[in-house]
Amino acid sequence: MADAPSVAIISLASDFGCQVQITNIDPGLLQVLGLIDLRYWQLTSSGHMPEEYDVAVIEGAVTTDEHIELLRRVRETASVVVAIGSCAVTGGIPALAGTIDADCRFAAVYGEDATVTPGLHSPVAISRYIDVDYIVPGCPIDTTEFLAVLGRALKGLSNGMPEQPLCASCKTHGNECFMRRGDLCLGIITRSGCDAKCTTLGRPCTGCRGLAPDANLEAARKVYAAFGHDFDEVVTALDLYNTDREVCR
Ligand code: SF4
Ligand code: SF4
Repeated sequence: MADAPSVAIISLASDFGCQVQITNIDPGLLQVLGLIDLRYWQLTSSGHMPEEYDVAVIEGAVTTDEHIELLRRVRETASVVVAIGSCAVTGGIPALAGTIDADCRFAAVYGEDATVTPGLHSPVAISRYIDVDYIVPGCPIDTTEFLAVLGRALKGLSNGMPEQPLCASCKTHGNECFMRRGDLCLGIITRSGCDAKCTTLGRPCTGCRGLAPDANLEAARKVYAAFGHDFDEVVTALDLYNTDREVCR
């Protein structure tokens, strides 16, 4: 890779929330921008994607034939692919659509007589179609973590993603556990690295960072049962961001 690697930031099916997060990173972003040639940023540019770039940062889930073709070209072009946000990493909220029969969901949104454009697919994570080198999970992404992962990608280091569940991080903030209050919290099985922002701000974890590779699911099942939560309730809550269990950890 050249001294100033060129970067393209691309969006598939998303609400652009993770790209908006990137606009919030002033000092750190400037530091990174000194190290990269930001050749394309879909949120901020009406221009065409360049032919050449070293690093592709991709937000959003895959939902169309066009997305699949774009991903194929991106993978051929970029030496490094970084998936950012739950939509790109696990399919996220868009992937919930895949739990409903396609005809039913199109009819529910557009009416019974709607003509559905050919080439639409149930939304899935980008790793369903191409190899992904680095992930930045979360909905939206944490800007500090994004910069750290991008920096690691530029240096050729490992992803450095934490593998343990959220509870230890949550406890360092002195939070009262939601489970003790009778609320369902997915922190027991969700990947840490977000600094427990939601639980510290008074909201239970909803699992946007995917399952923690180190999570002990059997032990978690027992803990949830001990606190009165049927595991079906846990599975339903987990589905918000993680319907595709094979890619969510
Ligand atoms: S992960 Fe969340 S914030 Fe990011 S693009 Fe998807 S829905 Fe928006
Ligand atoms: S509130 Fe959630 S993340 Fe925090 S300790 Fe309890 S279960 Fe774990």
